[in-house]
Amino acid sequence: MLDARHLLINYDEIALKGGNRRYFENRLQKNIRSALKDLGGSHLKPRFGRFLLRLGSETSLERVCSRLERIPGIALFSPCLSTSADLDSVKIAMDTVLEPLLESGEEPDHFAVVSRRANKELPFTSTEANEIIGKYVQEKTGWKVRLKKPQLPLYLFFVNNDCFLALDRARGLGGLPTGTTGKVACLLSGGIDSPVSTARIMKRGADAVFIHFHSHPHTTLASQEKVRDLAGQVVPPGHRVRLYMVPFAPTQNRIITECPARLRVILYRRYMVRAAEAIAHKEGARALVTGDSLGQVASQTLENLHTINAVATLPILRPLVGMHKAEIIRDAQQLGSFETSIEPHDDCCSYLMPPKPATRSTPEQLEAAEKNLDTESEIRELVENSTVEVVEGYLG
Ligand code: ATP
Ligand code: MG
Repeated sequence: MLDARHLLINYDEIALKGGNRRYFENRLQKNIRSALKDLGGSHLKPRFGRFLLRLGSETSLERVCSRLERIPGIALFSPCLSTSADLDSVKIAMDTVLEPLLESGEEPDHFAVVSRRANKELPFTSTEANEIIGKYVQEKTGWKVRLKKPQLPLYLFFVNNDCFLALDRARGLGGLPTGTTGKVACLLSGGIDSPVSTARIMKRGADAVFIHFHSHPHTTLASQEKVRDLAGQVVPPGHRVRLYMVPFAPTQNRIITECPARLRVILYRRYMVRAAEAIAHKEGARALVTGDSLGQVASQTLENLHTINAVATLPILRPLVGMHKAEIIRDAQQLGSFETSIEPHDDCCSYLMPPKPATRSTPEQLEAAEKNLDTESEIRELVENSTVEVVEGYLG
């Protein structure tokens, strides 16, 4: 990796946001500052539709990069060497890039100089810069030029009176900056799916509150610890989210004694949705988010999703609804949550699972099944007995 002290950060869809662009930019700037705060000494400022980050002398480039990778709204980032925007200075800076490559023997089969100018007042065009610097590199190294998919791209970004040299354009998460599209309540279990659905909605710029239902003492405290761990992996670095831990066992016990066994899981879900809505209202969240995927298990048939939705007044967003399990697993691996998710845990829904859960149901059937329960007091109790903690995104 280049011993770079600067990074150019390109953002994603903000570029398309017309009149609101400043709002999105300001929020992304705040989010990046907050993610890097503890690393000290960095300086961030907007420059011609991107950000320039100058690292402090002690700041670790590697740690900065691993955080930028997890901040929604960043499209690309490039560690850079900086010099002035005249071609003689660029040649001198280029020497410091080329020499280690020549010495180490890690020479590419082909290269290309790729220039971009943010401001057009320079006395040369991008093509001229490519030709002049390309020729210089070729004379120095003897490497072949290949403009299409070169093995070694040498990027030159001209911004005002500066030129930034980069060898790499690393991919960010894309999407929109956290906190720009409102707040959602994410139902987070200890499984594979819900961390992925939560990460997907947060990548759309949503702020979040997390809700986990546990069956302690029927399930272990370790399963709650697992959810805390997953929550920390999903939250972007520098961001904090409130996590509600809801003791679900008393409600489950009444469902088990009062209601038909084959509707049990759908009943659990309807009470989860009702309690989650009450929490969402308290927290100013405007939608619920779950990790359901159509047809994955009995509670996720269209009929049962409809029966579950019937108790909701807020929209229930299901970012994974059309995804195959293999795609969800791939996303979980990319997110880093997969290894934690597959650790064995006891989920509240596996607590007294009926042998034959219903794959079809109607809202009317469920209303009848719930007639011996005092729904209002169940929900009040669930919300009142829940505990709230704050989860910080892992810093790494
Ligand atoms: P995952 O729990 O990650 O989805 P899963 O396939 O075991 O894996 P299901 O039991 O199918 O999940 O539950 C569907 C969705 O319902 C979850 O994605 C989650 O959003 C919500 N959910 C289920 N159990 C809980 C729980 N104990 N706490 C909070 N939300 C839950
Ligand atoms: Mg699932």
